[in-house]
Amino acid sequence: MLGRVERLGAGVRTDFAGRPLHEGDRVVCTYFRGCRKCRACRRGAFNVCEFGLSQWVKPPDESPHFHGTWGTYYNIDPDQYVFRVPESIPDTVASVANCALAQVYYGIEVAGLLPGETLAVQGAGGLGLCAIAVAKERGARVICIDGVASRIDAARRFGADDIVDLRELQEAEARVRRVLDLTDGYGADAALEVTGVPSAIQEGVAMTRPTGRYVTIGNIWPGLMTPFDPGTLNRRMVTIYPLMRYLPWKLFDALQFLERTIDRFPWELLIDRDFPFERASEALELSERRLLNRGSLVMEPA
Ligand SMILES: [Zn+2]
Repeated sequence: MLGRVERLGAGVRTDFAGRPLHEGDRVVCTYFRGCRKCRACRRGAFNVCEFGLSQWVKPPDESPHFHGTWGTYYNIDPDQYVFRVPESIPDTVASVANCALAQVYYGIEVAGLLPGETLAVQGAGGLGLCAIAVAKERGARVICIDGVASRIDAARRFGADDIVDLRELQEAEARVRRVLDLTDGYGADAALEVTGVPSAIQEGVAMTRPTGRYVTIGNIWPGLMTPFDPGTLNRRMVTIYPLMRYLPWKLFDALQFLERTIDRFPWELLIDRDFPFERASEALELSERRLLNRGSLVMEPA
């Protein structure tokens, strides 16, 4: 979500990076709260704040009324980190910062990806393409795994060095073998899962080199089961980092990343179409059928 400040709350003078904030400024905010007081926040784990989603899914007649981003107005809770959007970033590009870019920026930081290392990215949707950009800026080599033509094309344009195409390699074993072949028979230094497909975890661990790092982001729904081979994990000594949300200041990092790479990557590919609010259902349907990487809903205040 990206919006323009309609009214500032009492006493609000700056964003969460300390920069002056005025009515009319364009802003993005974290979609979750970081209360700074709960058991998680007190350990610095703002991304799993116990009250992180307490402002979600409330009826509109309940104060402060504007709880959802699919509307002309939205109320930002005092515990949602808000950041001013730099002038040089167009609306459509800025809307990518949250959550796609902030999420994978955090993930690649957690993976500790170094220049010259190889990152395997499972999935080339919005998050996957952002991950390719972050990895390339860090000087890494990227192997991207996907099976949708438009996504593979976009992955190449974002700088993916190698593509593993699910249409050609339909078995997980074949895809693992391909990644090993591309890495001297050893495996990627790090891998990042942004598919939401449970079976991708086993595959991802198997394609990560011994003592490598595996970050899983897409599997956010509990209860979806998958066979898993603990022996492969032990033998390869891969460290798994499961991530939920991101540390709120990563949204600021994402904006700065966009500012310095605005001309380097084809960010316009991430939003392929704008839809007026009245056509939200059509946007959802196209997205579900994978005919849309990412659509944006554009709403103007009355
Ligand atoms: Zn908290």
